[in-house]
Amino acid sequence: MKQIILVHTIPKLLLLVLTFSFSLAIGSAFAQVSPLAGIAPGTIKNSYIDLGESDSLALSIIRGRVDGPVFTIVAGIHGFEYPPIIAVQRILKSIDPKELKGSLLIIPLASEASFYQRSVFTHPEDGKNLNRVFPGNGSGTVTEKIAAFISQVIIPVTDVFLDIHGGDASEDLLPFVCFYDRKDASAQVGLARKLASAADFEYNVIYPYTLKADQPSEYAFKEAVQQGKTALSIEAGKLGAADRVAIDRIENGILNMLKEMEMIQGSISTHSDQRWLVNPDYIKAPVQGIFYSDIKSGDQVSRGQYLGYITDIFGEKLEEIHSGFDGIVLYKIGTPPVNTGETMFCIGKVN
Ligand SMILES: [Zn+2]
Repeated sequence: MKQIILVHTIPKLLLLVLTFSFSLAIGSAFAQVSPLAGIAPGTIKNSYIDLGESDSLALSIIRGRVDGPVFTIVAGIHGFEYPPIIAVQRILKSIDPKELKGSLLIIPLASEASFYQRSVFTHPEDGKNLNRVFPGNGSGTVTEKIAAFISQVIIPVTDVFLDIHGGDASEDLLPFVCFYDRKDASAQVGLARKLASAADFEYNVIYPYTLKADQPSEYAFKEAVQQGKTALSIEAGKLGAADRVAIDRIENGILNMLKEMEMIQGSISTHSDQRWLVNPDYIKAPVQGIFYSDIKSGDQVSRGQYLGYITDIFGEKLEEIHSGFDGIVLYKIGTPPVNTGETMFCIGKVN
């Protein structure tokens, strides 16, 4: 039987009263107290973090009976990406703190308002995309405060940071695991590569890392890389569906990573035919309009290949889209509307 200190059946307001003292924003910074402080080994603590001005963030801390790595899992940075959210619900129920080595910091639904209001990419209150505002601002808008809490309180105590996404309501996406190739952090990149391989997705993607120390990271797992952590992202699911296969794949990927870290027991069996893609290229929409394409995520495309076309709302063709690259379509806009400058296709190069 798991020991639950605070459970979600406690009203949210009461949880806010009971929440951590470190959580109050002081100016633009959160007080630097570890979220693990005061949590007994072998227990679970579920609570809402008070971000100030009635904004809050749900955090589940599963502290293993034995000390070990701190592994952070974030879902719901985009509230319309359901497979990550549901897979993490399963993880919350399946991990026994008495059997766990180390600790899990789990943010099950980073953008809760986006989830309940079914808003795609952005937070309904401030219109900001949480995965573009890192490192955030503790005295900013609600989205900036969520990012600031993760940047200032969660990432500093984290050894491995995993941010999980999927194809949003408009995205057709190939499932993959990805990480940044930070050249001056070979140990962290080496571990990320091992964990990506253990996750057992057919495709892994390695992004170049060119961020300077004083540049905003914008993305959650890039912020973790900038802070010198091992960080990965999983992408699975598409077009706003709570797809069972994608949920299973994410759950299995997380459990395999935890086995690779020796935080939970069990053997990992991986496919021998994993493919590694590097340095994805992006094709942007040249114009707003209605988008037609027979290409699907996972398709192999070649430079110059015809990919589709865009019309105006009278049906007149405005632009034809051709690939500028050879590679595999990682994701594409999978629904008719496109806006100027949006990524229509992301194409990974075969390594
Ligand atoms: Zn996302």
